[in-house]
Amino acid sequence: MLVLALSPEDSMSNTAPTTREHSINWVSSIPFFAAHLVALVAPFFVTFHWSYVVWALALYYLRMWAVTLGYHRYFSHRAFKTSRVFQFLLAFAAETSSQKGVLWWAANHRHHHRESDQPTDLHSPLQDGFWWSHVGWILSDKYVETREDAIRDFARFPELRFLNRFFLLPPILLAVATFLIGGFPLLVWGFFVSTVLLWHGTFTINSLSHVFGSRRYKTSDTSRNNFLLALVTCGEGWHNNHHYHQNTANQGWFWWEVDASFYVLKALSALGLVWDLRLPSDAVKYAFEKYTPEERAALESMPAMFGKARLAALAARAKVAEAVKGATELAGPAPLPVLRRR
Ligand SMILES: [Zn+2]
Ligand SMILES: [Zn+2]
Repeated sequence: MLVLALSPEDSMSNTAPTTREHSINWVSSIPFFAAHLVALVAPFFVTFHWSYVVWALALYYLRMWAVTLGYHRYFSHRAFKTSRVFQFLLAFAAETSSQKGVLWWAANHRHHHRESDQPTDLHSPLQDGFWWSHVGWILSDKYVETREDAIRDFARFPELRFLNRFFLLPPILLAVATFLIGGFPLLVWGFFVSTVLLWHGTFTINSLSHVFGSRRYKTSDTSRNNFLLALVTCGEGWHNNHHYHQNTANQGWFWWEVDASFYVLKALSALGLVWDLRLPSDAVKYAFEKYTPEERAALESMPAMFGKARLAALAARAKVAEAVKGATELAGPAPLPVLRRR
């Protein structure tokens, strides 16, 4: 195991101790790097057909929907309701993304919202740099266990505990299916290329969505709204909206904020498969209209977070946190209206 110790300067934070150590377990990470190798090299050695590219993209977006609707909006945030059977199907489909167990994913994500950009956040580009927030934290030994205390509401379902424990089962079944359908070329494109793209597409929300984009709402973290990331992640790129009010079924709150996951959710709602979609009230959506010029300036004062600029950002964050103290969801914006089942 190689230990990456950040320099004392890099490890500075507004409240953190001056030493922070992060380690990547290179041995247990071998499958992760091997999958990258297959995805990058194997396409040059198998028969090519444009249909394989279509398969790769289709399996990317189908599974991105499962990740956003399942892992994120349902299991992490309970932004809508569904049946026990559909809940299981969502968890199974999300796990074909090879992003570990459903309870592990949702519990860690809840922790991220509780500790956003604090020294205890597991993937903060502000605290620990871009690559740690993007992928380092997943490859470390630090966050292997499921945070049971953060996900007790779903941990009581034995079928979800089974999926959480045997999280490799869904991706293996998908890999076998692609092989049986289209042989080795489809295994390469439909599983490996698609899965590696899906990993990094998902990871952008932990990394790029806290670095690039605009900030509309006062939050004490660095979350941003980014149109391109919303296209890549089926709507998750409206990350500043999301950090401002976490439990909404939609993350794009205005008509131009493309949110493909929510469109799918509306269709599933029309079919009666999901219901009680939680939506932001107008008081939440238009809260930014009441900001003072000072508050707006504070929102725009966050610099990019690389190298020295990141250290400056840590200081800026402390200033913003002070200015917007109590303005986050925890302080109690208006309650969410609920779209009732028809
Ligand atoms: Zn975030
Ligand atoms: Zn979230």
